[in-house]
Amino acid sequence: MGEERETTVEKRHILIIEDERDIARLLELHLNDANFNVTLAADGHAGMQLAFCRRWDLVILDIRLPGPDGLTICRALRREMAYIPILMLTSKSSELDRILGLELGADDYVTKPFSVSELVARVKAIFRRIESVEKRFPGGAECLYVDDMTIDTSGREVRKGANDLALTTREFDLLLHFARHPGQVFSRCQLLDSVWGYGHDGYEHTVNSHINRLRAKIEKDPAHPKLIVTCWGIGYKFDATPASPVVAASLPATGWSNVTPMRRYQ
Ligand code: CA
Repeated sequence: MGEERETTVEKRHILIIEDERDIARLLELHLNDANFNVTLAADGHAGMQLAFCRRWDLVILDIRLPGPDGLTICRALRREMAYIPILMLTSKSSELDRILGLELGADDYVTKPFSVSELVARVKAIFRRIESVEKRFPGGAECLYVDDMTIDTSGREVRKGANDLALTTREFDLLLHFARHPGQVFSRCQLLDSVWGYGHDGYEHTVNSHINRLRAKIEKDPAHPKLIVTCWGIGYKFDATPASPVVAASLPATGWSNVTPMRRYQ
């Protein structure tokens, strides 16, 4: 499966930041076998440098590292770079690690010890999700216009009035999910499934906190939200109808490049 695609598509570049050499090598071997290009960084300093020196298709990030740890690197990437998928490796199954990873905007996480085939499957799942968006909007980014916001799905940027909004990965995914399903009521469980993906049962409180933070960024009066409305006892719905989708290629180029210039760490 997927073999025919892998031979015709340019290889994805994955950066693995992991100080445990055996794990790093094993992942490199299996991801190479799965037709990915892999670069290894053995500690947080090397990882931080490498993370910012090119546009990676995916960063696999161990949380506990010598030098800057995985959470620091994740935070810096989310703050400084255009969207990059991040898969975190946690050495403890403690709730804190998991939630921090998700709150910081990691796309997925795997708890050690993990099976390599499980991790490769997760990597492929992340790329499938991205490819499904790319396939749906070939040749350009889809922009949605909602209220006074423009949502650029490919560049993963949101502009509200004249200002760019700084949204985390999940906040962006949540907003996009709502904007694509206006008027539809979603329970917290449904939002977890659709936006966070499988395996996040029991994290419903995470949905609430993300919605509150998203409201603080997009609502005129976050205390009386008009866009993301609470449906008591059920969940939330998006109370705005986007104007028709427009392909970004037809928009004025100024400020809407979907590639954010690389910025060096420090
Ligand atoms: Ca480690």
